Amino acid sequence: MNYFPIQYHEPLFRPPSEGRSIIIQVTLGCSWNKCSFCEMYTSKQFKARKEEDIFEDIEALLPYADQVRKIFLADGDPLVLSTNKLLSILNKLTNSFPRIQRISAYASPTNLLNKTESELIQLKNAGLNLLYIGLESGDDTVLDFINKGADHKQMIEALNKSQNAGLNSSVMIINGVGGKQYSKQHAINSAKLINAIQPKYLSTLVLHPYKGMDYLKSRIDVDFEELNQIELIEETKLFIENLELNETIYRSDHASNHLILKGVIPRDKEKFLQQINSILS
Ligand code: SF4
Repeated sequence: MNYFPIQYHEPLFRPPSEGRSIIIQVTLGCSWNKCSFCEMYTSKQFKARKEEDIFEDIEALLPYADQVRKIFLADGDPLVLSTNKLLSILNKLTNSFPRIQRISAYASPTNLLNKTESELIQLKNAGLNLLYIGLESGDDTVLDFINKGADHKQMIEALNKSQNAGLNSSVMIINGVGGKQYSKQHAINSAKLINAIQPKYLSTLVLHPYKGMDYLKSRIDVDFEELNQIELIEETKLFIENLELNETIYRSDHASNHLILKGVIPRDKEKFLQQINSILS
């Protein structure tokens, strides 16, 4: 019988690495919902779910409590909730699932800026371990026209704060999001951003507008010419060349990627560049 005890509010998204996690929706949609390339939650009105409804979902899973190891909090930006509400949810989760190893969530740089380091430490101590943060670009021109809501400097402040609090980061950069015009500065400034924050995990996705490129172009205020496959790979090469990392796990294995790279930077940086050069030649 195909029975799952929780009824989700669709659409529901999770990072690829949360494929074996239990998903608990603590908010519906994204409180920002304005990034021009993102259609994930445009069909949903943002809402913070009531604590009693969230607890009901958690209690529905109690018969399986011994099997629960990883939990992903959805939807788009659970850290918009007050710290007190998040602490109450995290306490309920850790008390309900004694074998839990990881609790993770999406977070936006703006959510992190709005919390103090001491609030983030409280969340970490209550069981939150990992945040997935879509940085998209490190270039201020690109961040402005995609309407990300935070600039390069604010992103460094947000990520350093959460990492100082002990929260691990898995950050995402979008290959091709600057179009042809801003490709080089997008690659170089994104690498500078990543170097400044030294995340535990880094992934690159390829720009893939769900409603098509024409719709995306209608939502941004610059002439946007999309990159072809070779140009996307050249942009990735420039990005990787400029990375100076101590130890970051890097993946470009999302469904949108044509070029699959997986490894640790710096250890595998030269190998990645050789792979890219051989494709380009
Ligand atoms: S913050 Fe994230 S989920 Fe919200 S609109 Fe931007 S990319 Fe989409």
